[in-house]
Amino acid sequence: MNESVKRFLTEKVLGECWHEWKHIIPEDRDGYYDYDYTICTKCKEKWSGINHAVQRTFATDADVMDLMRAMVKQGKWVRFYLTAIDSYYHSSAYKGNRWGMTADKIDWLFLSTEPDGVRTFARLAGEFYKEDGK
Ligand SMILES: [Zn+2]
Repeated sequence: MNESVKRFLTEKVLGECWHEWKHIIPEDRDGYYDYDYTICTKCKEKWSGINHAVQRTFATDADVMDLMRAMVKQGKWVRFYLTAIDSYYHSSAYKGNRWGMTADKIDWLFLSTEPDGVRTFARLAGEFYKEDGK
């Protein structure tokens, strides 16, 4: 998944800032407490380096669940789910049982990872919103 899709999911679907971090060194730095820091030039959030990733990776359980919550909130969940399950039938995970276990589909949708490390759920969300024209 390329950066533009990750940015789209972050800004347009999740409604969050696609941070643009800048390292700041105070000009009149003369004391022990005048430390430098990194801040987002857009939303002014400070980067702790511990509790914030540089950007969302769409490679985590948290990213998947946040996308699902956003879709439910936007009324797009059912249509996304049906589209995603259609993709399941064209994936290598599908073993030919058309009426196969719903659990297999859920497993595939929520737990699969793409070769580039991005979660399958996130890739499908990017494709869904692109076709949705949002
Ligand atoms: Zn920001």
